[in-house]
Amino acid sequence: MKDLSAVLRLGHRPERDNRMTTHIGLTARAFGLEKMYLPGMDSKVKSTLEDVTERFGGRFIVEEKGDWRDLIKRWDGSTVHLTMYGMNIDELFSEHQIEDPLIIVGSQKVPKEVFELSEFNVSVGNQPHSEVAALAVFLDRYNERDIKEKRSGKMGVLPSRKEKRVIDYSEIPSLEECFEFVREKGMDDGLMKHTLAVLERAIHLQHEHGGDLRLVISGAFLHDVGRTRTHGIDHGVEGARMVEEMGWSEELQRIVERHIGGGITKEEAKEQDLPHRSYVPETIEEKIICHADNTAGGKDRFRYQIKRTEDAGYHESAKRMKKLAEEFEEDL
Ligand code: SAM
Repeated sequence: MKDLSAVLRLGHRPERDNRMTTHIGLTARAFGLEKMYLPGMDSKVKSTLEDVTERFGGRFIVEEKGDWRDLIKRWDGSTVHLTMYGMNIDELFSEHQIEDPLIIVGSQKVPKEVFELSEFNVSVGNQPHSEVAALAVFLDRYNERDIKEKRSGKMGVLPSRKEKRVIDYSEIPSLEECFEFVREKGMDDGLMKHTLAVLERAIHLQHEHGGDLRLVISGAFLHDVGRTRTHGIDHGVEGARMVEEMGWSEELQRIVERHIGGGITKEEAKEQDLPHRSYVPETIEEKIICHADNTAGGKDRFRYQIKRTEDAGYHESAKRMKKLAEEFEEDL
């Protein structure tokens, strides 16, 4: 139970250690802890951590604990002091069961008592380095190298190889808002049924392949809202415009805009009289909605759609649909 684990930061000197102690808190939070104890409160450190927690979600508390000796003595779990003089971290995890640890890190010089009071004095290598590095390595091992995140704050960072993807969740409509929106726009039962099938498929794909769940859900729900105005190839562009009019996220607009077939290239867009840009899905969420839309009717229907696209002479489009499918399935 990680919520019972915490970090105890000793030797914090206001001003001088401000940044380092803040980084101890940030690292603890990022790797799943929910509390940092400080023998003397530093309001600057506390407010920075509160601000990050408020924006990026989850729970993280900075608590003043003057009597840190008592805290270590009474801790109902393992007490682990990270120090270059301790036993090797590999030995710790291979030979001992560590549960709900209080992880103690120092600053400049740690009182001798800490060595005596702690159940384990543990080194991350016997070279001097930093408390932030030591804490990160310790938590990574403790978490068995799993740093999957399940927080939901106002802001979220979407993993990306190439660019910064930061999402403001206040711009993503809830499921209820999506439902009301498509109903208000006059989505009929047939289209609603298809929308729900795409939603179900998309949630499954997100579970298997990752991506942001809230973006996937709203993207699936809204992907065909443009069809309430037109059933032409421009229904993606039209839908994106409707999403934009609501002031909803650009990420969401692009999902709606890029969901057609296996995507539409800039050149094809020109031929189809669409605004001159690329509509090929790029992000994982865009690809998921596109592929969920193609396969919501089942494999046979997908194969039929490919054939129809080929028969109509759109060989490149059919190829893109197949290529996209290969990213998600082994047997289509
Ligand atoms: N002499 C100190 C010691 O006991 O590790 C080094 C002080 S260092 C500036 C500040 C903190 O970094 C230490 O209190 C300890 O928590 C952490 N630290 C530094 N090197 C470490 C290492 N090799 N293994 C584990 N912790 C380390």
